Parts: sequence; structure tokens; C-alpha cells
Amino acid sequence: MTLEKYTVGVGDRFAHQAEAQLQACVQLAADGIEVVPVWNKSNREHSFIGSEPQSVYDAAKAAVEALGWEQGWHVDADHINMDTVDKYLDCSDFFTIDVADFIGQPPEGDAVAVFVGKHPELVGSVSIEGIDAPLEITREYVETVAGKYLRAVAEAGTIYRHIESRKSDFIAEVSMDETDVPQTPPELLIILAALADEGVKLQTIAPKFTGRFNKGVDYVGDLEQFEKEFNDDLAVIAHAIAQYGLPDNLKLSVHSGSDKFSIYPIIGNALRRTGAGVHVKTAGTTWLEELIGLAEAGGDGLALAKEIYAKALENVDALCGPYASVIDINPAQLPTPEAVADWSGDQYANALRHVQEHPEFNQHFRQLLHIAFKLAAKEGARYTDLLKANAEVVGKNVTENLYDRHFKRLFVA
Ligand SMILES: [Zn+2]
Repeated sequence: MTLEKYTVGVGDRFAHQAEAQLQACVQLAADGIEVVPVWNKSNREHSFIGSEPQSVYDAAKAAVEALGWEQGWHVDADHINMDTVDKYLDCSDFFTIDVADFIGQPPEGDAVAVFVGKHPELVGSVSIEGIDAPLEITREYVETVAGKYLRAVAEAGTIYRHIESRKSDFIAEVSMDETDVPQTPPELLIILAALADEGVKLQTIAPKFTGRFNKGVDYVGDLEQFEKEFNDDLAVIAHAIAQYGLPDNLKLSVHSGSDKFSIYPIIGNALRRTGAGVHVKTAGTTWLEELIGLAEAGGDGLALAKEIYAKALENVDALCGPYASVIDINPAQLPTPEAVADWSGDQYANALRHVQEHPEFNQHFRQLLHIAFKLAAKEGARYTDLLKANAEVVGKNVTENLYDRHFKRLFVA
């Protein structure tokens, strides 16, 4: 099974928006650009919502049939490990093998010495097409990087072989993004060499990039540095495919990729210049479009949207705790629940919708609601019945967000 060139991770926490999401791909296809949806939902999200992995497949398949979508589509077992992979085997064809927790753990036995001995080509002046100056890599550097990553690579191999023993055809991604320190292009080269040794036929890799990828808001960081690193990563991947026999469609995966509007032109230009593919995860934002749609619907929808904000504010510390490294909320910038209670549906929608130049947009309000989906989950049928009753206005927002703010900026020159 071969992963298509351009793929987007889409998430649908409450399993009501798959059709609206796919509609964005239909619109882009009409523009002549094929982007294939990959529906993903992590184990953590399933446990918060109380859903089963099979529901993601079912919702995706129903959307594909309803819209007569004839291109590819996939279901991603997102951020799985050996403890969680089994329940995704029947209903996923894409596996995000998350080994970030193993980074920095000591490799077994003489694995580092064996690796360094096997890879003299990694030491010295390493010329890579597409990178101006050769990478100057010392033996000590290879030892250090191998020492840091070989245990994680071995774990990726264990999980990969476990999936392979139960499924003949699947797509593997290796993710290392949920860690503190970004991986540099020379580190990526060494990691890819090690993954090839381990027999992991990965089709995408999700490194941690430089800068902050906060939930639901724009990229924060040095754009020039990001551009250099992204371009160098593309060059390293092309080099590793040729040198180590990795799958020739191997590409970068950008996690927490929704709403990173300032880097989309950089990514888009790099893809068009090199012909490389990409996987961009936009998963978390669909739930915010549901809230926007409910606010615009007015009545009970707006009332619930306001109630969820008030509860989020009451529980702000508990909600933010697990996300501390991926949000930046200034409490002083959060509107009071009394103020929000007086808002019209449009005011609520304007504060939440990610239109940065809109005078009413409030990124603190947006970030808090982004992580407040558990509060909607607690409402159960009250929430999902409102989604059904207001499917049109909600769906319109879901499609527009993906097509206008994400796909066009990423994939259309
Ligand atoms: Zn991730």
C-alpha cells in the first residue's frame, strides 16, 4: 500500500464531520490538486470521548460513499505504541508509530558500536544534493546521536514487525515529535539510516521541527530557520531514500500542522520546488468549527457554546495542565463569562474563527476552547443532537476552514 503524495490528517472528535471534511478535498480536486484525507484519532482522544477505533473507519467510509470519492483515503492509528496498537489493527491502514518516549533511553548492548561500524559513510564530509555545504559529521557525533535514538528506532522496529505479522498491507509513519528538543537535519539522516537497518519501511516521518507548534494557532518561531531546516530535511530524505533503500515515497509529516499559516507558503514552495510530498495533520481544529457553527446557528447552539466557554474558564488550570507545552494562553486576555454571555453568535464566531486580521479574533479564547472538547463530550447527546440539527452551518464552517485557510495556502501557489 502506497501513501499518496499529498495527504492531510483530519480529525473528527465527535464523528459528525467526515463528509464536510471530505468536501474540502473534493473542492481542491476540482482545482486540479489531489489531496487525500487520512482520518486520525489518537488513543487519548478515544478515551476522552468514549469512542472506539472502528467508529473512525465507519464515519470515513460513509463520507466516501456519500460523496462518491474515488481517490484514496486512509484511517490512521494515531500515536500508537505496543500497548495500544492491537485494537487498531482491524480498522486502520495507516499507523503512526510513536517512539518519542524512547528517545534518550540507552540502546541495548553494543548497538551503538555496531551502527557506527556499519556506517562509515556517515562520518566526515557528507555531501547531500540540495544542501549547499556538505554536512561535517564526526564519529563522536554519530555515536552521540545513535546513543540517543537507537533505542527509539529499535522500538519502532518492534511495533512495525508486530503490525506486519498481523496485516499484509499497511502504511507506517514513525513519529518523534512529542519530545522537547527538535531533531536537526543531520540527526534525521542518522535516524533514517538506523530505521533502514531495522527494516522499518516507513513512508512518512514526523520529526519535531524548530519553533512552537501550539494547538490551533499560528506557528511561533524563526521563519528563516524553519525554512532552512524544512528544505534541508527534504534533501536529507531524498538522500536517505537513495542511500538506504527506504520507500521512494518517504516524506515529511507535519504534526500539529493545523493553523500554521505563516509556514504554509514556505512548505508549499518547498514542495513545488522539489516535487516532494507531505503529510500535514490538521486534526484538532474541526471541533472548533463545530462550535463556530453552533454559535452562528444561535438559539440552543449559541447557548451551549457560551456554556462550554464558561465551564472552560472555571476549569482553566485543569484543562491546560496536560497541554502546557503546546499552548500559550494569557489569562488576562480571556473575556469574562459575563461578557461572552452578552455576545451575539457572530461575535462568538469572530472571536473563535482563525482569521488573524479580524479585530474580534482572540487567540487566547481560541486556544482555551481548543482544549475544552472534553466538556462537549460530557454533554453527550445534547451536543451531538445540536450538531445534527445544525449540520448545514457547521459543515459549511468545517469545509471552509480546511479548503480556504488550510488547503489553498498549502497546496495552491
Ligand atoms: Zn504528533
